[in-house]
Amino acid sequence: MEIQTPLKETTDILIEEGGDVLKMCYQCGLCTGVCPWNQLTKFDLRKLVHKAQMGIVDFEDEEVWRCVGCKTCVDRCPRDVEIPYLMRAIRRVIMEVGAGIVPHSLRLSEKNISAVGNPLGEPPEKRNDWAKDLDVKTYTKGTEILYFPCCYQAYDPPTRKAAVATVDILKKAKVDFGIPDNNVVCCGESIRKAGAESLWQRLAKTNMDIFAELGVKKILVTSPHCYHTFKDEYPELGANYEIIHLSQYLAELIKEGRLKFSKPMVKKVTYHDSCCLGRYQGIYDENRQILTSIPGLEFVEMRDNREYALCCGGCAGRLWMETKKGERMSELRLEQVFEIGANTLALSCPYCMANFNDGVISMGKAEEIEVKDIAEIVSEAL
Ligand code: SF4
Ligand code: SF4
Repeated sequence: MEIQTPLKETTDILIEEGGDVLKMCYQCGLCTGVCPWNQLTKFDLRKLVHKAQMGIVDFEDEEVWRCVGCKTCVDRCPRDVEIPYLMRAIRRVIMEVGAGIVPHSLRLSEKNISAVGNPLGEPPEKRNDWAKDLDVKTYTKGTEILYFPCCYQAYDPPTRKAAVATVDILKKAKVDFGIPDNNVVCCGESIRKAGAESLWQRLAKTNMDIFAELGVKKILVTSPHCYHTFKDEYPELGANYEIIHLSQYLAELIKEGRLKFSKPMVKKVTYHDSCCLGRYQGIYDENRQILTSIPGLEFVEMRDNREYALCCGGCAGRLWMETKKGERMSELRLEQVFEIGANTLALSCPYCMANFNDGVISMGKAEEIEVKDIAEIVSEAL
């Protein structure tokens, strides 16, 4: 057996970069058994944590980019080891300190976010083009709610439909809301998980300055990634807003009778729990309440649901990295959708939307299933 000498310096750097959770791990290996990667390929998570403890992580190995931050392992770990923090620390050493190799496609997205404020590399002045025919006002001081669509909902045509539907719903419920001017930037949640800490701080400060100038107090988001970072991470820099995810808001509007469904819907719908909304925030019931309150809609659950839901494979920067055919979590999840005969897959996350749209196309199933955001389904039923 090869004797390995611990390299304390590397371990110390990982701890400095926020990976101190590595000290908690006692190497039981339960995490490896539940990590979804092991349904697709081999990923020895326990061993990677051990390498981090020993300070012998191979920063050039592509396994350091595998973790999607889905938190399945955290839920099962007997020591509550927050693996995504450790993975973020390893990636910070690569991204910020300069060790190892950054996947080309991730580097490109990082450069786009840094240069123009969105991962798609689209012009900032076109950020609000999605809303130009919708008669929606720009947020001004005193407006009740700032509706903040994510970069994908602003620029990516299939994903944009969720933002258009959200505006339709908010108008029908007579909500006092406005959208930000096109000077806001990416929320930064995923690029932070991918290790670009200083970029996340720059993005957060830009958005926070804009929100402060406008006196924003309440922000409505359609992306669980924006939700997570605005609510749980921006406060690290002093932010303090009320953050609401659309699923929470819609469930409330329906309960209060401010939204009434007038068009019965003949659909067999299943719902995919996004990791950032589910395991990160415990928001499981709201989307199910919304769907089951639509007349005519038949709601069916997939095999793995709620806290056991499979990740779509797009969190923690993986959306911007190549994943070869046969190793895509989105396709594994879509198999579960087809298993129960649903004809509509309902989502509440733009990253899930991008991944599953690609998945149905690469599986040749685009004609068999509709992939829709909950907002689109609600808007159609009003
Ligand atoms: S489940 Fe937790 S304690 Fe066990 S090996 Fe994984 S990280 Fe370590
Ligand atoms: S967070 Fe998810 S992808 Fe990452 S190691 Fe844990 S189970 Fe695997």
